[in-house]
Amino acid sequence: MSSKGNLIILSGPSGTGKGTVCKKLFAQNSNITYSVSATTRLPRPGEENGREYYFVSKDEFENMITQNQLLEWANVYGNYYGTPLNKINELRAQGIDVLLEIDTQGALNVMEKAADGIFIFLLPPSLAELEKRIRGRGTETAEVIKKRLDAAIDEIALGQHYNYLVVNNNIDTAVEQITAIILAEKCRTSRN
Ligand code: 5GP
Repeated sequence: MSSKGNLIILSGPSGTGKGTVCKKLFAQNSNITYSVSATTRLPRPGEENGREYYFVSKDEFENMITQNQLLEWANVYGNYYGTPLNKINELRAQGIDVLLEIDTQGALNVMEKAADGIFIFLLPPSLAELEKRIRGRGTETAEVIKKRLDAAIDEIALGQHYNYLVVNNNIDTAVEQITAIILAEKCRTSRN
């Protein structure tokens, strides 16, 4: 057992409800914070620079890559996304749990670099429900919806590489399960 904060990696196909689950998780657990990623995609209505993401240009992002400022990065649906390293180590050293909400490519990269990460995969209740949620968001074009659904099917197969699978049938139950996983990990010994 150590007092160092946990590194929690949460992935799941777009539309699984990761954003909503995370918001509740943070609201209920003051010791868990999130890492703000950098991205080259444009902000959606209501998103703020520095809160949901650091919205940067392609040039700025490529500079961050060459200067080794990212724990991992990936190209998701044609845009760059990456996790800035600086804050994560600082927070963990203070005993704060840091959660990364990243796609499967990024998570697989982190698995190689951060052996002590807790990898959690959030599943939608069904593919039909996932499609409904992606369409229901109403902010994406038909082409983007199709891309995201195809990617979701491929991504779900990668869930087997994670430590935990959580089905998001119900938001409160999913948050409860993730909280229980994080709590259990705090009591864990080094025995595998
Ligand atoms: P969205 O554009 O819907 O906010 O995010 C699209 C995808 O990018 C999601 O699957 C999300 O988990 C992923 N993502 C967000 N931030 C990062 C990051 O820092 N690194 C990686 N690899 N993926 C990210």
